[in-house]
Order: sequence, then C-alpha cells, then structure tokens
Amino acid sequence: MENLAKITIALDGPAGAGKSTVARLVAQKLKLVYINTGSMYRAVAWLILKNNLDLNLQKKEILELVEKAEILLTQDDVFINGQQITEQIREPEISRFVSPVSAMSEIRTQLVKLQQALGKNGGVILDGRDIGTTVFPEADLKVFLVASSKERALRRQKQQMAGGIEQSLEEVQAEIEKRDYLDCNREISPLRQAPDAILVDTDNLSIKQVVDKIIDLAQKSLN
Ligand code: C5P
Repeated sequence: MENLAKITIALDGPAGAGKSTVARLVAQKLKLVYINTGSMYRAVAWLILKNNLDLNLQKKEILELVEKAEILLTQDDVFINGQQITEQIREPEISRFVSPVSAMSEIRTQLVKLQQALGKNGGVILDGRDIGTTVFPEADLKVFLVASSKERALRRQKQQMAGGIEQSLEEVQAEIEKRDYLDCNREISPLRQAPDAILVDTDNLSIKQVVDKIIDLAQKSLN
C-alpha cells in the first residue's frame, strides 16, 4: 500500500449515500487523512444560525462572520472558533439550513480554498458534492456514490437514531430529496458526477463491499 500514501481520492454523491462511513473506513485502511467537507458547510450553517443572522437580509454580516471563522476538523470532531460542535451540526435543523448556506458563492470560495490547502500534499480522501468537479479536479480517483432515496433515508434515519435524533422515515426522505434538489440546482458547483468519476450504486452492496471496491479502484488508479 506504500504507493497509495500520496493518493487523492474524491468521493462525491447525494445526501445519505454513505459517503462519510465509507470514506472514514477507506482512510483507516489506506492510512489517509479523511476530510469531510460537508461538516465544514454544516459548521458555517451552525454559526449563522447561532448568530441569528438572516440569509437574505444580512449577507454582509454573514460574510464578515464566516471570513473570520476558524474551522478545524480532526478525525472525529468539528470545531468552529474553538467550540466543539460535532453533534450539533448533525441536527435536522442544520440539515435543513445547510443547502441555502452552501449555495452562497463567497462561502464556497472560502471553504474550497481551505479544502485545497488541507489536501495539497495528497494522502487524503475528501467527501462532498464538488470534490471531483471543483476542489480536486485532478484527483487520482473520483468516485460518485449513489443509492435510491428510500435506501438513503433508511440509512440516515438509523444514523440519526444512534445519535438520539428521532424523525419519521417519510420526513427524512422528504428532507433528503429537497436537499438533493437544492444541491443539484444551485448555480455554483452544483452536485454533479464528474465525467471521469466512477459511479458506484450502493443499494445492494454492504459497507464492506463498497470499501473494498474503492480500495481496489484506488490501487488500479495508480497503475
Ligand atoms: O455531506 P453532508 O450531507 O453533511 O453535506 C451537507 C451539505 O453541505 C450538503 O447538502 C451541501 O449543501 C453542502 N455541501 C456542499 N459541498 C460539499 C459538501 C457539502 O455544498 N463539498
């Protein structure tokens, strides 16, 4: 696995496709740094909500706040301005608010810069929506992970329940579909499969099968 030490893997796809679970496991196996870019957008959404700022009316204040914000990701936790917000950013309230926040071009520019700086030396797997198209268009391996919205809602509901968050399956599915719609139809860096990304449909695959497949693709990508 020596030659994989400097690889850059871009893992994109819609909400709840299993990107973070898979990326974390691939990172462990290949000894890569895992960068969850969705957590960064969620952290910014949390900060805006916490400061009671209105997305439509207070854009200037929002941009000032975000520009000064220090976002730190460790392998397990998310911090903003020194405050640990790992669990808070998984709340449904943030999931509902994050897509309009991530559609703001200035916020995207700032976070993309941060992601590129963190990944510049390789040895990374990043998951998100625009990694293969915008953040690292030259990534060694690009995977686009998909699953049906029903399956994604089931997985997300299970994940939420483990974290003590209860929501009906219908509600989770409707929110996932709404977020996908917004993410796919925004003007800047919409959710898209890069032309050279490999599509992996996870509907009938176990987590282990998806992880093994990505590791296999990673090895092949360097040959
Ligand atoms: O990956 P996760 O579902 O936590 O991402 C939360 C939201 O952050 C997405 O719905 C999307 O609006 C935004 N996002 C993005 N670009 C990324 C990662 C996430 O716009 N690279």
